[in-house]
Amino acid sequence: MAIRMDVFKTVPDLYVYQVVSILSSFDLKLDQNTVALWKISTEDFYCIKWLLAALPSIQKYLKMVNLQLASLGNDICLLKENKIACTVEDITQLLTSLESFFVKKIIVFDYKAIADRVIKGCARAIELNCSYLDSTAIAKIHIEANVVSGAVEMIPYETKWCAWPDYGFVSMPDVNTLPDSHIDFMCKNLHNQNKKVPKGRFLAQYIGTCYKTPCHEVIHIIQGINKQRGNTFQAEHDASYSMMTLLWSISKLPDLSPLFIEGLCEMIYHYQIQSANRIWNKWNQSEKLQYHQWKDTFGLTSCPGWTTEGPEGLILESQMKTMIAAEGISPVKIELIPEERIKVVLDVLFKNRTGNILSIPVNIPADLKIEQNRIEKLVQPVSPDLLNELFKILQCNE
Ligand SMILES: [Zn+2]
Repeated sequence: MAIRMDVFKTVPDLYVYQVVSILSSFDLKLDQNTVALWKISTEDFYCIKWLLAALPSIQKYLKMVNLQLASLGNDICLLKENKIACTVEDITQLLTSLESFFVKKIIVFDYKAIADRVIKGCARAIELNCSYLDSTAIAKIHIEANVVSGAVEMIPYETKWCAWPDYGFVSMPDVNTLPDSHIDFMCKNLHNQNKKVPKGRFLAQYIGTCYKTPCHEVIHIIQGINKQRGNTFQAEHDASYSMMTLLWSISKLPDLSPLFIEGLCEMIYHYQIQSANRIWNKWNQSEKLQYHQWKDTFGLTSCPGWTTEGPEGLILESQMKTMIAAEGISPVKIELIPEERIKVVLDVLFKNRTGNILSIPVNIPADLKIEQNRIEKLVQPVSPDLLNELFKILQCNE
């Protein structure tokens, strides 16, 4: 298909990221010649909210290459010239060509700059909401890039994010400066899927990481500033539980608005929920039970599975963190995060909670207590009303 996707070089980077995400949402496992569909009526609330917010801009950019999202029955298709629906093969080609922009450095994201702006936004949101914390220490929080030693055995460490509470910074793998050996390692280990993701897809998806992970790591820094002495289980619980609420609150900061284009936060939530749901469907009873106990005690019970020898322990830890970050988006009620929630969450985490916090009982407001098997509700399809709203926007363009 001769669609000149190189026109996209002129589109602001974050919109290209959104277009890549939209194209990846189509079902591409079917026969190459069949019409490619996005089964939108089975998608979750945050996915629909993402599209409702993002569609006007996305359609504008797609139009530059004579493409257009449209409804087809209960699904979404992508129309090319003469209003012919793209096939699976067409979409696969479009996706490959956009992803190659990342590999060939036609599009270069400044990942470190995104992470640094996000973490400074987090620091400011925390400072604004928690007058009882040391604001001078909070103001110093920043991002630094991991240093590469050249030793092969160091690759797993040099590709990790890490919070350094004593020094007030978070270190990150900056994929723009890391050697290929490191990028290869990261492509293999993304989401613990044990299958290698193509480099272009990885570089696109890593943008989302640079929004989410600083929101998690900054909580570890604050745990240090607040002189909390807990343990891994509690520290990881609190950072993972609160990160998505923190992300939402910084997306509303006026000076971060260029970073949060329409629907971006909702899109990140949608992906988080979908990854958590894949984990949920794979977990056995013992894993679900460990998760419930950890979640129900607000991280104050340990998870024996995390200390299992070999990679299994680390995988379970990462899965449980993914799960609670997803469920923390909407603990009991499907809604966009209310503006005032961030203060309540930060107070639960930090107010009058210093020293050995394992012995301090936590008071969690009822609307922040994650209900059992919450993930199953989060992936439910939305109401017909919300879906109709989306179809109306799609039809406007037809
Ligand atoms: Zn952590």
